[in-house]
Amino acid sequence: MQHQQTIQPQPGQQINLAGYDPDYTGDWEKDLARRQFKDNQERMDALQNVLYAEHKHALLIVLQAMDAGGKDSTIRKVMEGINPQGVHVWSFKQPTPEELDHDFLWRIHQHVPAKGMIGIFNRSHYEDVLVVRVNKLVPDDVWQARYDHINAFERLIADSGVTILKFYLHISKAEQKERFEDRLKEPDKHWKFSRGDLPVRKRWDDYMAAYEDALTRCNTAWAPWYIVPANHKWYRDLVISDAIVRALESLHMEYPAPEPDLDKVKIPD
Ligand code: ATP
Ligand code: MG
Repeated sequence: MQHQQTIQPQPGQQINLAGYDPDYTGDWEKDLARRQFKDNQERMDALQNVLYAEHKHALLIVLQAMDAGGKDSTIRKVMEGINPQGVHVWSFKQPTPEELDHDFLWRIHQHVPAKGMIGIFNRSHYEDVLVVRVNKLVPDDVWQARYDHINAFERLIADSGVTILKFYLHISKAEQKERFEDRLKEPDKHWKFSRGDLPVRKRWDDYMAAYEDALTRCNTAWAPWYIVPANHKWYRDLVISDAIVRALESLHMEYPAPEPDLDKVKIPD
């Protein structure tokens, strides 16, 4: 599929999120997009199988979004059909006292996927330049230094065989309102509603500014950001699955060589 520059900005490009339409769906129609997505799912399943067998590379998928941005449903939808044995999903919550006694990447590093694995971060080290910055949880000079720390860290893991894809799920403030209202309306979504999300919504503009800096300063050749128009879930799933398929295909993976003379093996009765 064609990728607009808006979805995959160039490294170094200054990001202004007001210029990115969360409703964007390219030239796609929903039915066709869903069919293409199914196709991508099958390819992902096959590619994950070789990734696991070859045991040489790993894939790290980073998901960031405002509340109700669709991180959970992306994981459910995009990963369905993939062998769970090869996937490690980790949600980063508020750091524990022990985690806070270490550098901010300490808790992250241990969840970076091992060779053969797909790792998914539901929130990530980017929280340390987002919520931490907006809520002034550390002095300015501390979070300011983190963009460089993040780039160096991502470089280290990329150099160690981890392909990194970072997705910012871009929803509009109006879409978030609708999704929150759904959570209030539907009993089986009540558990997803948290009053604590409302003060965060109030700081929407501050979060957008923090996201813009993260998307601008940490969009590197070795760990690119995708700005995914995410108001329409079907388009979001298509964009993400497409990026994953392309990334895995570019690794040109192969199954390991079989043991010799397999044709001569007889399985005893
Ligand atoms: P859900 O969709 O289930 O609400 P969630 O990711 O919002 O998922 P919560 O338990 O509601 O999960 O929230 C986790 C909270 O932890 C978020 O508010 C997030 O900003 C916060 N958090 C994550 N990492 C950090 C960090 N390094 N410092 C401070 N807060 C953090
Ligand atoms: Mg939450």
